[in-house]
Amino acid sequence: MSKVILQIDGNNFYASCEQMIDPSIKGKGLVVLSNNDGCIIARSSEARKMGIPMGQPYFKLKNKLTQLNINVRSSNYELYGDISNRLMQLLRKNCEELEIYSIDEAFGTIKRPKGKCLYKWGKDLRALVYQNIGIPISIGIAETKVLSKISNHLAKKIQTNSGIFDIGIIQNKDHYLNQIKVDKVWGIGKRMSIWLKNKGITNARELRDMSSEQIRKKYGVVGLRIQNELKGNLCIPIKETSSDQKEISVSRSFSYPIDSLEDLNQAIIKYVLIASAKLRRYNQLSSAITIFTNTNTHSKDYYRSEATGKISVPTSNSKIMIEKSLSLTKEIFKPYKNFIKAGVILHKLQSNKYNQTLIFDSQNIKEELYRQRLDKTIDNINLKNGLDTINWGSSMMKKEWLPRREKLSRIKTTNIENIPTIYAN
Ligand SMILES: [Mg+2]
Repeated sequence: MSKVILQIDGNNFYASCEQMIDPSIKGKGLVVLSNNDGCIIARSSEARKMGIPMGQPYFKLKNKLTQLNINVRSSNYELYGDISNRLMQLLRKNCEELEIYSIDEAFGTIKRPKGKCLYKWGKDLRALVYQNIGIPISIGIAETKVLSKISNHLAKKIQTNSGIFDIGIIQNKDHYLNQIKVDKVWGIGKRMSIWLKNKGITNARELRDMSSEQIRKKYGVVGLRIQNELKGNLCIPIKETSSDQKEISVSRSFSYPIDSLEDLNQAIIKYVLIASAKLRRYNQLSSAITIFTNTNTHSKDYYRSEATGKISVPTSNSKIMIEKSLSLTKEIFKPYKNFIKAGVILHKLQSNKYNQTLIFDSQNIKEELYRQRLDKTIDNINLKNGLDTINWGSSMMKKEWLPRREKLSRIKTTNIENIPTIYAN
């Protein structure tokens, strides 16, 4: 038995999530827009076939999308995050190790019985994920991470592979590696690919076979690792991701720039409330909070600022977090700046099982219990009736700067009220 690396990736993930919760758009053209309904960031395969490009501003393609009858959705990160969690949980059960690489990508490992092709195993996993989560995935199987990425690419590219490819079972991989352009190899950046092309190296096979001395001289151990992985020697290990989160972050772009401390405070409070509710949902506490804001990256006087504050007793309480973050916004605010984005990161997370209550005196314990009950009541009401049904006064003022999400799918998997009702008679 030998260990193999799997690279698993949700196909057109955001679009697939939208199609999963709304069967009326399944198999149809669909695009998902970025924050603020700005650009196209995901397409269903149908929209791709109709020639809709990625990354284009929505307003430029609006007419074309209408003509082609393509559905449009604002990004619904709450939904994608929830589907991603479910996907990763299911993958964790079916792999020996799992490294969550992004919202829709993971590396895993399993054992290969001697000489056995794992196509059938992949096919079963793919069917299991589709049955349980409702989204299609692609699986690349190989000896190393770099090869598993290539294998996954071939799984998608060659139709007869139907989403699974096991390059690890193939002794002579030349035919396949010849098809992979060198700049598509995982870990090869733009500058390195230009350097390689100048040396006449255009595809993955040529990179694998070139002089390793040349690579070492220019790119050191990092370059050598990629070449070795192409040869089938595992050099980039799996970093197992624990199911506990390391940090919780909430950030958004505004629909128009804001320049007052009052508006920035409101935005930060809003994000603190979302983040602390998440913290409580995961039964965790935080003892450090970072807030940040920035102006437009492309503007001449680009300005970015962040501040971090420690919280002496780990907490998940909204009021404590709001107080702390408001003392920090004064530090990051600068007059006459047009801020277009802000965010909150809660870190130093720990389980709430080990709450340090011993250092409270009896009066504090009483207050803490009141606070916990209040948070719980607010969470329950909002969970049932939708975010923002009840909230802190400081977050309820004018909010025209909230990001535009005009095409948001109303259905969420995180809200029991949104589950469709089926009538049978
Ligand atoms: Mg993907």
